[in-house]
Amino acid sequence: MKIPFVDLHAQYISIAPEINNAISEVIRESAFIRGKYVNDFEVSFARSSGVKHCISCGNGTDALYIAMKGLGIQQGDEVITTAHSWISTSETITQAGGSVVFCDTDNITFTIDPNKIEAKITPRTVGIVPVHLFGQSADMGAISKIAKNNKLWILEDCAQAHLATYDSRPVGSIGNAGTFSFYPGKNLGAYGDGGCIVTNDDELANWCRKFADHGGKNDHSIEGINSRLDGIQAAILQVKLSHLVKWTKARNEVAQQYNLALANIPQVITPQIGLYRNHSYHLYVIRAEKRDELRAYLLAKGIETSCNYPRALPFYPAYKRLRHVPGDFPVAYQNQSQILSLPIYPELTNKQVCYVADVIKEFYEL
Ligand SMILES: *Cc1c(COP(=O)(O)O)cnc(C)c1O
Repeated sequence: MKIPFVDLHAQYISIAPEINNAISEVIRESAFIRGKYVNDFEVSFARSSGVKHCISCGNGTDALYIAMKGLGIQQGDEVITTAHSWISTSETITQAGGSVVFCDTDNITFTIDPNKIEAKITPRTVGIVPVHLFGQSADMGAISKIAKNNKLWILEDCAQAHLATYDSRPVGSIGNAGTFSFYPGKNLGAYGDGGCIVTNDDELANWCRKFADHGGKNDHSIEGINSRLDGIQAAILQVKLSHLVKWTKARNEVAQQYNLALANIPQVITPQIGLYRNHSYHLYVIRAEKRDELRAYLLAKGIETSCNYPRALPFYPAYKRLRHVPGDFPVAYQNQSQILSLPIYPELTNKQVCYVADVIKEFYEL
C-alpha cells in the first residue's frame, strides 16, 4: 500500500465540478485582482472565524508581517513567541522591526508554555505571538491573562488551525488579531498562495487593508506593500470553505482511529489535547522512540511521513546570534528528535490508518 503524506488530488476530485465552475466564472468576468470574489470570501471567512474583519493578502507570512506592522512594532520592541513553529512566525517579527524572544513549549500540546512566558517579559516587551500548532489552540486563557496584566498585544498565528477553538471561541478571534495561511497543504488551502488577517479592531483592520495595497489605492496615506489574494484563489477558497466543517470532522475521525490503533504501543505517545480545546488536526504528530529509524521503516513500506519541524527555531543557523543552548528550551529541544507527523487528511481511510499502525507495531516488534 502507498500512502502519501498529503493527497491534494483526492480532495480536488471530490469537488472538481464546483472548483472548475468557480475558476471559469472568475475568468469569464476577468475579476483577477480584488473585486467580487475576494470581497465575498472575506465576508464568509470573517463569519466563520467569528470576527468583524477579514483582510485577505498574498500568503500567511505576509499576514503576520502586515498585522505586526499594524500593531505598531517599533525598532527594538521585543515580541515573545514559541520555540516550536514554522519560521514565518519568528522571521516576520524581525522583518517588522522587532526582536524575537523565544519561549519553550509545554509538555503536552506542542504550543507555547504560559508558565514560562512571564520570565521572558522585560520593559521592552510589546506583544505575544502564540501559534496554534498542528491545529490545536495554545492556552489562550492563560496567555490572555498575562497579556492583560502586562499590557501586551496578542497576535494569534492560526496558519495551521482553521476552525479550531479555545473555550468555544474560534482561534483568531481571541487576541487583538489572528492570521491564517491558505497555502495548498493547509486545512483550507488555495491552488497557490494566499493568507489573511482577522480582527475585531476597526482601526487595525483599516490600516492593514491599506498597507497590503500600496497604502490605499490613489490615496497613499502611507507607503505600503503589494500583498493581495487574487480572484481565482478567493473563488476556490469560497468553494472549499463550504466543505471545511465536514473536512475538519473527518480529520478528527482519522485522529480518533489513529489514537485507538496506536494506543498500546509503549514507544509511541499519541497527540494530547489541552483543556477547553477543539483540535483541527492539520497534522497528527506522535512522539516516537527511535524516530529516524521508524521513519525510514515506514517509508520503505510505502508510508510517507514528515517532521514538523526538524529543529526547534532557536537552533537553526538563522538564530545563531541569540546563542541559545538546548537547556534554554528543554521541551522543544527534546521534541525535535521524537516528533513524527503521520499522514492525515479527510480522505484517508480506516484501512490506511490501520496499515500505518500495523507497520509501526511491526517496527517495534510488537
Ligand atoms: C504555513 C505557516 C505560515 C505561513 O504561511 P504561508 O502562507 O506559507 O506564508 C505561518 N505560520 C505557520 C505556523 C505556518 O504553518
